[in-house]
Amino acid sequence: MPDTQTLYIDGQWQAAADGATREIHCPANGELVASVSEAGRADVDGAVAAARRAFDSGDWPGTPAAERGDVLLKVAAGLRAAKDEFAHAESLDTGKRLVESEIDMDDIANCFDYFGKLAGQDAGRLVDAGSADVVSRIVHEPVGVCALITPWNYPLLQAAWKVAPALAAGNTFILKPSELTPHTAVLLMSLLENCGVPAGVANLVLGAGAEAGAPMTEHPDVDMVSFTGGFETGRHISSAAALSVKNVALELGGKNPNVVFADADFDAAIDNALNAAFVHSGQVCSAGARLVVEKSLHDKFVDELVRRAKMIRLGGPFDPRAETGPLISAAHREKVSAYVQRGIQEGAVLRCGGEAPSGDLENGFYYLPTVLDDVKQGMSVVVDEGFGPVVTVETFDDEDDAVRIANDTKYGLAAGVWTQDAGKSQRVAGRLRHGTVWINDFHPYLPQAEWGGYGQSGIGRELGPTGLDEYQEAKHIYHNL
Ligand code: NAD
Repeated sequence: MPDTQTLYIDGQWQAAADGATREIHCPANGELVASVSEAGRADVDGAVAAARRAFDSGDWPGTPAAERGDVLLKVAAGLRAAKDEFAHAESLDTGKRLVESEIDMDDIANCFDYFGKLAGQDAGRLVDAGSADVVSRIVHEPVGVCALITPWNYPLLQAAWKVAPALAAGNTFILKPSELTPHTAVLLMSLLENCGVPAGVANLVLGAGAEAGAPMTEHPDVDMVSFTGGFETGRHISSAAALSVKNVALELGGKNPNVVFADADFDAAIDNALNAAFVHSGQVCSAGARLVVEKSLHDKFVDELVRRAKMIRLGGPFDPRAETGPLISAAHREKVSAYVQRGIQEGAVLRCGGEAPSGDLENGFYYLPTVLDDVKQGMSVVVDEGFGPVVTVETFDDEDDAVRIANDTKYGLAAGVWTQDAGKSQRVAGRLRHGTVWINDFHPYLPQAEWGGYGQSGIGRELGPTGLDEYQEAKHIYHNL
C-alpha cells in the first residue's frame, strides 16, 4: 500500500495523469485526513482499457467459479484480520462512530463470504426442449467490464455489495467511490491484490462525479454500470448508459415509512424509531425518516420520542459516549437545514432540533436530531429524502389508512411495521410497495436476502442470489443431437 492514496490501474498504484489531488477532511472536526489523487477522463480510459484487456484475455472469467469463490473467502478473512485499520479509516472519512464502522466491517466480511460460497454453486439449468434429440441448457456468464459507482454514507459496504458479486461472477471492474470517502476503497484494492486478484481485474479510480464518474458511464467499452447514490445522479447515469445500451443497476434514495400501530410494544418501537431515524445522523438510504403513527397513540409516542431525541449525545467517531455523529459536509448540513426550514414554512411543527448544536462541536458538521410533527402528505419534508437527522410524524386511523399513507411515496426502498398482532403485520407487509419490510424491527439486512427498491428507489437488486444474477448474462445453448 502506498503512503498517499492513488488510483490503482492494471495492478499499478499511480497518480492521476494530470497530477490533480483533493484533500479529505474529517467531518467531525475538519482535520486533514489525506491527500488523494483526483482522476479525469484519461485515467478512466486507462482503467477501462485495463479492465477490458483482463476480461478479454479470458483468464479471470475462465477461472473455475469455485476458485474465484476461494479468492473472495480469502478477502473476507483479510477484512476480518484488518478490521481495526479499515474501521478507523472509514470513521475518519465519514465521521461515523467507530462502533458503527466496526459493525459495517462484520457485514462487509460476511458479504464476501456469502458471494464466495455462492460462486461455485451455480451450474446453470437444463431446459426441457420437448424432444429426445435436443439438449438445451442455460449457462451463466459474466457481463464483462463493470463500472461500480458508490456513495459516501456506507463507502466500503456499498462497494462490497458490488465488488463481491462482480468478482464472483467473473467480471472485471472499475470502482469509483465517492470523492468524499475514498480511503477504504484504496485499502480494499490492496487487499484484493494480496489475495490474488490478477492485475487489470480490479481497478480503482478516485475522483468527482462529473470528471471521473461520467466518463465511466459513457464509455463504449463498459458493459454494465452499477450505481448507488442519489435519485438525480441515478437518472443522469441511466440516460448516459442508455446511449450505448449498457446493463444498469440503480440503488437510489428512499423516504421510508415506519408504521406504528397502537398495539405495538411501546418501548421497542420507541427505541427503534430513534435508531431508524438518527443512526449515522440519518444519512442512511433506508432511514425511518417518516413515522406513521396510529392516531390514538400519537401524543404518548411523540412526547416520548421528542424527550429521548433531545437527549441524544452527538460526538466524533472516537468519542465512546457519542450516540450519533456529524453530517458529511458543510454543504450537506446547509441542505438539511434548508429542508427543515421549508418544512416549517409549509406548516410542520418543530418539536425539537432544527439547528446545529452550539459549543464544543462547532468544528464539525453536526445537526441536532429533529422531529417535525403534524406534517401532511404532499409537504416537501414528506415527499423528499432529507438524508439528515430529521423525522416527520403523520397519523392514521386504521389499517387501510396506514397502508395508503405508507405507500404514498415516489420511492419504495424500505418500511417498518410495529404491532403485536401477527396477522395484521403480515397483511400490512403484503400490501406495502417497498423492497424490504421490517416487522417489529428496523434496519437489519442479510447478505443472503435481496436488497433494492420499488419505484424511484431504483432498478434491480443487490445481495442474495439475484445480486449475483445482476452481474451475469444467461446464455441458452441448444444442441440438436
Ligand atoms: P450522489 O448521487 O451525489 O453520488 C454517488 C456517486 O455518484 C459518487 O461516487 C459520485 O461521485 C458519483 N457521481 C455523481 N455524479 C455523477 C455522474 N454524473 N456520473 C457518474 N457518477 C456520478 O450520492 P451521495 O450524496 O454520495 O449519496 C447519497 C445518496 O445515496 C442518497 O440519496 C441515498 O439514499 C443513496 N443511497 C442509496 C442506497 C441504497 O441501497 N438504495 C445506499 C446508500 C445510499
